[in-house]
Amino acid sequence: MKRQSGKYTYIPILATFVILLVAFAITLSTMANQPVNSYTVDNDTAYEGVSDNGYEFVETEGKNGVKYYVITKNSTQTTTAASMMDNNDEEAVTTTTAAASIKTTINSTTETTAAPVSKTTTTTKTIRNSDEKLAYLTFDDGPSINTEKLLDILDKYDVKATFFVIYHKNMDSKYKAIVDRGHTIALHSYTHSYSKIYRTEKGYYQDLDKIHDYVEKVTGVDSKIIRFPGGSSNTVSRKYNKTIMKTLKKSVTEKGYVYHDWNVDSTDASGINRDPDLLVEKVKAGLKKNKPVIDILMHDTGKSKTTTVEALPRIIEAVQAQGYTIEPLTMDSEPIQHNW
Ligand code: ZN
Repeated sequence: MKRQSGKYTYIPILATFVILLVAFAITLSTMANQPVNSYTVDNDTAYEGVSDNGYEFVETEGKNGVKYYVITKNSTQTTTAASMMDNNDEEAVTTTTAAASIKTTINSTTETTAAPVSKTTTTTKTIRNSDEKLAYLTFDDGPSINTEKLLDILDKYDVKATFFVIYHKNMDSKYKAIVDRGHTIALHSYTHSYSKIYRTEKGYYQDLDKIHDYVEKVTGVDSKIIRFPGGSSNTVSRKYNKTIMKTLKKSVTEKGYVYHDWNVDSTDASGINRDPDLLVEKVKAGLKKNKPVIDILMHDTGKSKTTTVEALPRIIEAVQAQGYTIEPLTMDSEPIQHNW
């Protein structure tokens, strides 16, 4: 067909451009709405979370032992808090560069969810003999691209762990794998956003109910085992509501939940892909305290926590070498709770 006039040939080009622009805007807004596994800063303390304006913060440590904060937004823009950052510190600068390349990994494959068979949680009462030592391996913030790797390692050692999960899009099969492979699925938060969950009691329960119902829908498990983002002793919540943790600790218990903190920290959340040797050492140092019950905090957070996967075999071996039996958390487990 003969073109009648060159006058309107720009229209298809313009239309394509507009479509691309809209698609790009949609992608950006979707990214912004994803719960991000990261850290927030309150004065000089770093915890997990995303700030109100969408910045994620990662605490890191310079050579001189001073803490710095790597700040990332939408995984592309990276800067540092000038007030907290000593630009002469090479190590902190290196970590900043690394942060720029780390993207929140959301599995883009679509997964279909079969209607789960309703499960009755049968918990056998765990009564610890006075000389028995119990260890709980707990993984926060998953599932992620690392979940299966963690599950394979746990299988290899024939031990069961506990996963305090948050909401991640398109990861239904991973929530199910945790349960199907015999581990405890427990609740952390839907959004992991401190400003949403720690402003009011109502806000906290809206979020908790959402993750509870989501986990139940996907896995069939009606979980009442929880871990507060940042732990029950976090101080970031004070920024939003000074007494919220006191209120929540009481009310979650009244509602039949059991909250768990930790007493051994692998410190995998204190930076991006911390040296696996260091994670093993931190756990070993925690084991030296020789407590009868230990809850070891680790994270299942994708690309920024691949060293947790690397360290896990040695962590399990170290725990077992100290005479601990590794068990998953149940409603009858003795909870480790921070006193503050
Ligand atoms: Zn968390």
